[in-house]
Amino acid sequence: MPLFKNLIAGEWVEGVTTTRNINPSNTDDVVGEFVGASAAQVVQAIAAARAAFPAWSRTTAQVRADILLKAADELFARRAELGELLSREEGKTLPEGTGEVIRASQVMRFFAGETIRLRGEIFPPVRPNVTVEVTREPVGIVGVITPWNFPIAIPAWKIGAALAFGNCVVFKPADLTPACGWALVDILARAGLPAGVLNLVMGRGSVVGDPLVDGVDAVSFTGSVPTGRHIATRAIGTMTKIQLEMGGKNALVVLDDADLDVAVECAVNGSFYSTGQRCTASSRLIVTEGIHDRFVAAVKDRLAKLVIGNALNADTQIGPVVDLKQLESNLRYVEIGKRDGAVCTGGERLTRASPGFYMAPALLAETTSTMQVNREEVFGPVAAVIRVRNYDDALATANDTIFGLSSGICTTSLKYARDFQRNSEAGLVMVNLPTAGLDYHVPFGGRKASSYGPREQGSYAAEFFTVVKTCYVHP
Ligand code: NAP
Repeated sequence: MPLFKNLIAGEWVEGVTTTRNINPSNTDDVVGEFVGASAAQVVQAIAAARAAFPAWSRTTAQVRADILLKAADELFARRAELGELLSREEGKTLPEGTGEVIRASQVMRFFAGETIRLRGEIFPPVRPNVTVEVTREPVGIVGVITPWNFPIAIPAWKIGAALAFGNCVVFKPADLTPACGWALVDILARAGLPAGVLNLVMGRGSVVGDPLVDGVDAVSFTGSVPTGRHIATRAIGTMTKIQLEMGGKNALVVLDDADLDVAVECAVNGSFYSTGQRCTASSRLIVTEGIHDRFVAAVKDRLAKLVIGNALNADTQIGPVVDLKQLESNLRYVEIGKRDGAVCTGGERLTRASPGFYMAPALLAETTSTMQVNREEVFGPVAAVIRVRNYDDALATANDTIFGLSSGICTTSLKYARDFQRNSEAGLVMVNLPTAGLDYHVPFGGRKASSYGPREQGSYAAEFFTVVKTCYVHP
């Protein structure tokens, strides 16, 4: 059984625990054993990053760009192999897994370019003979904490941005999916990063999390709201800069004038692809009454035809749930929905040739906005339909949530599309597109409880991963 170690100060080192990484499509298949760091090792990793920072932060943009480009090339060249690894450890289908690896490569390439695009500003002076310059410098040592559902793309867009601007990194991947994070660190280290610039501390968040947050200058976190809140509370004590991307309860609005085929495709893709395990998944389908019954019938038809199975099978469209705990939580939400009066299609556990965590996607019809299934994030292939009278009701219902990550509308009316774009209380708005599915060169993030701090991705990433210095110079 291969044992995957942590990277501290340029050395692959043993940890204090080991975790078996299990394939959710086939629980007899062990992806590998991964070590877990102790709190003391996290402190060592931060010290290694601090030691590496002075030299790394003063490298030329070209040096950093070349390393990121080399990593991008290797990610792309190994997309099939790493895509399969991702599917094995997380349960995404092979096209989804390969697509995510390609995305990681694109992100690295983009941030390689950002190293040379970073710029400052010179302002006209208001005092004689004084020049005023605003420049950006790296923020320092960045702690990167990531979830299991995008195990290579999210680490890539955080680590890529951090390194591009001259920061050093201590990275903690999710305990459920460490293999992709490990592979990414291995690729970046071999691409030429000096020792200590990027450190890997795998292990449980309950062990690794606090010492990591306590010791770094900035934390870029993606995960659930409770963990984000914990990190925020802790980070305030040390005035540590934070960027938190968290959960969603994303609404897809379908109006009477929508193209039915487009609306059904958006709903099925947005709600159930990637097994519904996307922060941007459409978990609330808000449908006006003129199209409601036709829409629900058509979504049910599509669900009946979806192939659910082993993520590595070529014909699979929906892979398994990531683990037993998440599967049980999804099934519990289905029961809660039924208890509260929802009319459920699907939502049962399935068996397949290999032992795994399979479930039929669940469509909960006839729900209301106040039901528990419409208030809390499920994070699985479970979508609830809310019938509304008109556009105004639809918009109010879409915004009736503590979350504000993504939202979508299916309509052929420019008037309603534009009004929704302006008045949706979400950070991302999609018109006639699924609520999930994003480009890598533009900012990503939400509002309300879904996000806190500056945006990720695109050139906006510089806001978090650099600090501004204002300099007044008199000759
Ligand atoms: P999670 O339980 O909050 O875990 C996220 C990461 O935080 C994991 O690496 C976890 O470690 C770590 N962690 C746990 N306790 C910690 C602590 N006390 N201090 C520091 N780190 C700690 O979330 P998840 O279940 O992995 O991911 C699902 C959630 O992520 C959903 O809510 C989803 O919506 C959200 N998400 C949001 C986005 C976005 O961009 N908005 C994208 C993807 C996912 P372990 O390894 O021990 O779990």
